[in-house]
Amino acid sequence: MSDIEGSDVYKTLLESTKAIPWQMDWITKEFTYIGPQIEALLGWSQASWKTAQDWIDRIHPEFRERVVGYCITQSEHGVDHEADYPALKADGSYAWIRDVVHVIREDGVTVKLIGFMFDISERKKMEDELVHVNKELERYSFQDGLTGVANRRLFDRTLESEWGRAQRNRQPLSLVVVDIDYFKQYNDFYGHIQGDDCLIQVSQALNEVSSRATDLFARYGGEEFVLLLPETSKEAALEMAEKCRRAVQTLKIPHKAPGIAGIVTVSVGVSTVIPAADTKPTSLISAADKMLYQAKGNGRNYVAQC
Ligand code: GH3
Ligand code: MG
Ligand code: MG
Repeated sequence: MSDIEGSDVYKTLLESTKAIPWQMDWITKEFTYIGPQIEALLGWSQASWKTAQDWIDRIHPEFRERVVGYCITQSEHGVDHEADYPALKADGSYAWIRDVVHVIREDGVTVKLIGFMFDISERKKMEDELVHVNKELERYSFQDGLTGVANRRLFDRTLESEWGRAQRNRQPLSLVVVDIDYFKQYNDFYGHIQGDDCLIQVSQALNEVSSRATDLFARYGGEEFVLLLPETSKEAALEMAEKCRRAVQTLKIPHKAPGIAGIVTVSVGVSTVIPAADTKPTSLISAADKMLYQAKGNGRNYVAQC
């Protein structure tokens, strides 16, 4: 029926290749050929591919309009093209197909399409897995390995962007720095493993202090944590800092090392600024750090603010 099918040699060649060849009369929109391999791939018989509508009906509904629209436009304009889409199988599932299409024109008018369908399901699966793995990796790269909360990297990035936003909007940005008191003695007395466990408990308690989506709680390093509070006034930040201090105190984690009050506590430094132009976010950190130092000097389990 067609020039492709005309020769036995071509027929053998076309029917043995993994790619599935097809041909369509663009005037009548009828398939003039489709390789019998289509049945093994999708389950629909070779004879069931009669018109372009059969092809359209077997494209996943979510992809149909876009794929069909694209292929028609390209075909009308005489542009060779390719399209990836999930094709409906006879058993109701889908297989990913890449259709590669060559457009044949006569006197500036499209008369015929010659195409190959490739089964790209495996490749798609691998691509999906890769996307998933990359997302996981990104998640891990912003997560502290021990406590599971955000890490310093995410904090640095967020601080940078929130600083810029606060600068533009002339809004206050607050930072709460939390440091566990006498943690060296805790480690020395209870051992490193229990020290790690204490860090996990403290971070979980502190992580629950804020519920605002724009706030960021992170482990800054060692036994130091930070809570970044965009659009938060001095008064509100002080309240959050107090909540942090109380949250750890409420845990009542024993700290019976010699000379220590009896439970694990934290000291907290708070700083709030409306960032001026040409200022750097490090100034917010050093201001909060200075306050933390004051809190320690004040006997610890204390909040200091500037
Ligand atoms: P201060 O009250 O002045 O804050 O005293 P401190 O002992 O808490 O502070 P210092 O900076 O002297 O000690 C911090 C300790 O935190 C030392 C280090 O062994 C411990 N530390 C830091 N990171 C980890 C960790 O990931 N796991 C454990 N178990 N300990 C850690
Ligand atoms: Mg420290
Ligand atoms: Mg400490």
